[in-house]
Amino acid sequence: MAAPISIDCAWLMAEPGTAPALANMRIGLSGAQVASIEPLTYAPSGPRHLVLPALANAHDHARTFRSATLGAFGQPLESWLHFLGVLPGVDPYLCAATSFARSVRHGVTDLMVHYTRVQGGMRYVEEALAVARAARDVGIHIGFAVAMRDRNGIGLCNDSEMLAGLRPTLREPVSQRLSVRPLTPAEYLSQVDAVAQALADDSGLASHVTLQYGPAGVQWCSRPLLEAVAEASHRSGRPVHMHLLETRYQREWADHAHPQGIVTYLDSLGLLSPRLTLAHCTWARAGELALLAERGVTIAVNTSSNLGLKSGIAPLPTMLELGCRVSMGLDGMAFNEDDDALHEMRLAYSLHRGWGFEQHMSRSQLWAFAAQHGRRSVRGPAAEALPCGVIAPGATADMIVMDWDAVDADPLFDDVDPLDLLLARATGLHISQVVASGRTVVDSGRVTGIDESVLKAELLARVRSALSSGSEWATWRRQVSELGEDLGSFYRRSNWAGCC
Ligand SMILES: [Zn+2]
Repeated sequence: MAAPISIDCAWLMAEPGTAPALANMRIGLSGAQVASIEPLTYAPSGPRHLVLPALANAHDHARTFRSATLGAFGQPLESWLHFLGVLPGVDPYLCAATSFARSVRHGVTDLMVHYTRVQGGMRYVEEALAVARAARDVGIHIGFAVAMRDRNGIGLCNDSEMLAGLRPTLREPVSQRLSVRPLTPAEYLSQVDAVAQALADDSGLASHVTLQYGPAGVQWCSRPLLEAVAEASHRSGRPVHMHLLETRYQREWADHAHPQGIVTYLDSLGLLSPRLTLAHCTWARAGELALLAERGVTIAVNTSSNLGLKSGIAPLPTMLELGCRVSMGLDGMAFNEDDDALHEMRLAYSLHRGWGFEQHMSRSQLWAFAAQHGRRSVRGPAAEALPCGVIAPGATADMIVMDWDAVDADPLFDDVDPLDLLLARATGLHISQVVASGRTVVDSGRVTGIDESVLKAELLARVRSALSSGSEWATWRRQVSELGEDLGSFYRRSNWAGCC
């Protein structure tokens, strides 16, 4: 990964939506930081480039195999989750590195990894280090949240109640595979401490990872576990990353299980703080959002994922109106299953900015959503010590270089704002270079730190081999489909009595 000394560009968008694009500029770099920005007296020779700050993905899971590949297209979240387990565990480095490579090629240098799918086959700490090595080799910074779940492995109700709702032939295999076998809260916390210690022993890895607590969600975590996480985060200063109110069924469950209010409940546990990022909040109400804003919580909105998993449309305009800090997540479910953060930004803007002459989301709010607040979700509140999501002297040099001749292929008027073109049509395919902490991590559209195609081929070969080693995985895939049908009947009935 070479470190460029300076980058000349036809256009510089130092802070899209806030500062106007500047023509013909030179960005000087010093180590990981931007050192200077100076105008050129001439247009750089060769193809035109536009440089803008890199994007951040505030909620993801480092999954490499995409939803439709697993046969899960069109499933709602409640049944879709189980399709993630139709593959045997494989090498965590291969999975993470190929997933990170796709993200960085599409312009993301800060990426949240809520590590909900443990591959197994090695000690947890070793697996976490493998993921950290993948981040280092690809050249990005990740938030690594140790996932925790100590109840309700099958759905929103306890396992025995969920099993009773399934066809009899499914009960045994589903119980075997999905019933929760939790660690105690103290064991989960010591798992985090063990990863922290292992990272501290390797500064080359530690600089690429912000370790976090990752309770999966209120419906999946007991009160003692959430209390322990709140206390540990308060004590250690580590951020917390958790799902909340993603689907209509979670909303109904929450209203039944926490009649005093699920957000009030989290507040009473001490979980609501500026260290917390909540993924989704798709079904949150205005009063709940106001409390999240008051407590300084960040909400990671996952527009494509909410559409792909039929979860709904998040009340992003209300979140903004109430002063919530909102960040953009892709959740491994970008609209075209390609991890294209530029496309995600466009989709979110189109869906949430308002209809007709209404304006609910400004361009500077869009930029804060797509690039600035997500860094905070990934790195924690300490990230605010440096200017982030901007190209300015002293800021970390995290930048995207776009092939502007390809984006602006039919120019007619000099006064069209380049930001219009970026928002209208730029995608990850227009990215020619990505710089992360001053190093070129994508060059000519290729990841420089790993051989992505070799790793992908290796991963595919191993998974195919594992799948063909016996009939158990084919059987389980069929059973997951049947489970989806039975869960559909269960959730359509949605009687939450006795289910907390
Ligand atoms: Zn998620």
